[in-house]
Amino acid sequence: MIFMQNMNKKNLKLAIQKSGRLTDDTLNLLRSAGLEFESYKSKLFSSCRNFPLEIVYLRDDDIPDYVASGSVDIGIVGQNLIYEERPANVQKLLNLPFGFCTLTLAVPKESTVQTLADLNGQTIATTYPNSTKDFFKQNELSVETIKITGSVEIAPMLGVAEAIADLTATGSTMALNDLRPLAKIYDSQAVLIANESCMLSASKKQLIDCLLVRFQGVLSAKNYKYVMMNAPAEILPQLKAITPGLKSPTVANLAEPGWISVQTVIKEDTFWETIEKLKLAGASGIIILPIEKIIL
Ligand code: ATP
Ligand code: ZN
Repeated sequence: MIFMQNMNKKNLKLAIQKSGRLTDDTLNLLRSAGLEFESYKSKLFSSCRNFPLEIVYLRDDDIPDYVASGSVDIGIVGQNLIYEERPANVQKLLNLPFGFCTLTLAVPKESTVQTLADLNGQTIATTYPNSTKDFFKQNELSVETIKITGSVEIAPMLGVAEAIADLTATGSTMALNDLRPLAKIYDSQAVLIANESCMLSASKKQLIDCLLVRFQGVLSAKNYKYVMMNAPAEILPQLKAITPGLKSPTVANLAEPGWISVQTVIKEDTFWETIEKLKLAGASGIIILPIEKIIL
């Protein structure tokens, strides 16, 4: 491959989607992890300025194979592609909080099909034939599949299939195309994957571990907020119970006797409930700050 020529062979190679639904969130994650690199549409790869990493831009469908063959060491793709292609020699390192979607089985709105069993022996159009066949097999049914890579929704209208299995995020595209969801095959999200053999190389493994700490630091920071509040000293046990924090809160005395300042972290998913509990317990002057990174 010509574009590999300018890469430093010792550097870790990460494949990401060149242009698509995963691209912006992936680039944001890499930048939040402190990686500095140029990225513009015509680039085939970027070398990181401050980390021994080459970022290779590919079509998402090609990433599992490149990781499996070891042409790149790690990659960021939808879990759906891993479920579908089951590449050998590839392991998942981390779930990433973007690219959420569902592989959904759907039939035309006016179809007489009401249950999975009604599709036994029928043809399903999909980009994910292995996933679809497996799903029917698990339900002790069997179907034919026809692989279509774009505009899967049109297949029933053209009479090539009785149903489709396609990725959906909100379901609006299916509704727009007069399709009725029948079943969920699986949920998916973006994942970081690695070539298993490269995890056996000490130097590569060290770089991957270092990236993992950075990614996890960024991801856990997103799940927490930093809170500072004032409270009468006697309610400290209640505040501790409401906000277990990472280990234990930081407590300082205020100039006013009997009053303390408490600093801790709270979880984003229970944010408002926690704030309400703190207020009810007697905390006041509550200040909330975003956290950039958490290294545990
Ligand atoms: P490429 O040109 O790289 O082959 P593509 O058109 O095949 O791109 P995208 O539509 O950009 O791929 O989707 C990339 C990934 O984004 C999917 O594999 C899936 O993991 C995820 N995704 C999230 N939401 C959706 C959705 N609503 N439809 C399709 N994919 C989605
Ligand atoms: Zn693709």
